[in-house]
Amino acid sequence: MFFEPGLSCKGDEDATAYWFLFKEDKILILKDKVQFTLSELDSYKLSKNVLRSQYLDCVEGRSRYVAELNSDTVAPEGMSFYDLRHLLGQLPDNLFFSAGKAYQILHWDRTHQYCSQCGAQNENKIDERAKLCPSCGFINYPRVSPAIIVAITRGHEILLAQGSSFQAAFYSVLAGFVEPGETFEECVQREVEEEVGLKVKNIKYFASQPWPFPDSLMVGFTAEYAGGDISIDDMEILDAGWFTAEQLPLIPGSGSIARRLIDWFVQMEGFPSF
Ligand SMILES: [Zn+2]
Repeated sequence: MFFEPGLSCKGDEDATAYWFLFKEDKILILKDKVQFTLSELDSYKLSKNVLRSQYLDCVEGRSRYVAELNSDTVAPEGMSFYDLRHLLGQLPDNLFFSAGKAYQILHWDRTHQYCSQCGAQNENKIDERAKLCPSCGFINYPRVSPAIIVAITRGHEILLAQGSSFQAAFYSVLAGFVEPGETFEECVQREVEEEVGLKVKNIKYFASQPWPFPDSLMVGFTAEYAGGDISIDDMEILDAGWFTAEQLPLIPGSGSIARRLIDWFVQMEGFPSF
């Protein structure tokens, strides 16, 4: 993918630009198509419903934008508004994460209309992706909230837990938001201790994945058990335990970094990923 930084794309923008369209938190989808041209917007009679929009990026010479449609918008024939989260693993990854970026920027735009310092109406800054308060000069950048996610192993076992916020009864690796003043490694140690009462060692970076609902960046690690007995924080965790690769409980679907961490463990144990 050819990507140009900046806040505009050179060339014939309007004719070739792609638009991601949201109504509140849902994306407009036509089968597996989630980006539309301006002429399609016109032909579906959606242009008049655009509440706000933001430039996203320039990919292969095409500008991409995100727009929010007003809440009265009815999906045109054959199309529907859909919770983007449920399209993970359904859309090609690059399209899913592009749509996720669109959602994250739209959410930021919607929630930063006013200055958080003085309450005046913000303006889009012209030279970078930011909101500038014309009254007091305060600048707001799109927020990214880092969170660690960690696969803890003990010999031939992996620690998996069922979170109280999970939408389904699956077990996954532990995760939690980074606090101010904390390194990723400190966050891994604190979260593991808080959630399951264990100590870990040999914390190693694995991979990262944006999770734009609305603005997380999941930073994945592996770690080894170093001591303690499982003692769960029952506000956040319903159950936690050690599992071998042969006896895994229900785990998250493919596409998430949580699943990649579990697949890493399964492969390390000499099983093919599934
Ligand atoms: Zn202000």
